[in-house]
Amino acid sequence: MVREIGGPRVAVHALVGPGADAHLFQPRPSDAATLRGTALLVRNGLGFEPWLDRLLRATGYRGPAVVTTTEGIRPRSLDGGARREHDHGGAPAAGARRPAAGPAPRGAGGVPDPHAWQDLRLGQHYVAAIAAGLAGADPAGAEAYRRSAAAYSARLAALDGWVRRQIATVPPERRKVITSHDAFGYFGDAYGVRFLAPQGVSTEAEPSAAQVAALIRQIRAEGITAVFVETIGNPAMLRRLAQEAGVRLRGRLYADTLSPPDGPAPSYEAMFRHNLGLLVPAMRGEPG
Ligand code: ZN
Repeated sequence: MVREIGGPRVAVHALVGPGADAHLFQPRPSDAATLRGTALLVRNGLGFEPWLDRLLRATGYRGPAVVTTTEGIRPRSLDGGARREHDHGGAPAAGARRPAAGPAPRGAGGVPDPHAWQDLRLGQHYVAAIAAGLAGADPAGAEAYRRSAAAYSARLAALDGWVRRQIATVPPERRKVITSHDAFGYFGDAYGVRFLAPQGVSTEAEPSAAQVAALIRQIRAEGITAVFVETIGNPAMLRRLAQEAGVRLRGRLYADTLSPPDGPAPSYEAMFRHNLGLLVPAMRGEPG
């Protein structure tokens, strides 16, 4: 998003690169050095980057501004009020300790769900926040940022309409998806799709045998054909679950990360087109 809005005036450095897990990211010393020399820091917030506050304290970051793209939105809460930390169920890198959950703002009923970009209308909120932050850090470019943000926002609004038309081709009773973790809550709320995530029901632990068995019964009883792993997190449990339920895994969804430039989801917009291209035929039960 920052690249789209900043254009040639802005050099963007991503601390968490393609394919990496922002929840479990471990900053390197070179990241602290990068941060010291940067003019503007853009973060998602809502507890998505628990390591970032520690990194900011460690570097004594004194940039002109930190833009929190979710500031001002009304966050949804993660399902299961007992959860303390959003978790992908993935093992941390060898020798690394799982970072403790940072202080996260409270949602209406518990831990806020950070994955707000999965609703394209909220994506437009991100665009406005980023454009304002760039204009503050570089007033000479304010007009350029305003123009590119307006054009980008219009594209996202059009993409939002396309997503709705795509979902409308799926019979309402078939709008159900199993994914490996609960990153699609905002998507589900915005577009009327029910996402069931076995790793969403527990934090550190694997789901219990009873929980997995209940999900398998539900897959069979409701004829759910859309079962996906994601590009981050641990797919092993989902593979077992799909096998036991007798359904085929339908590919990898991009939720928390983009692909490298030569992959199928190198931008925010491409991520939606890629995911919808997998989700719609899978929900319709088409061979794919
Ligand atoms: Zn996530």
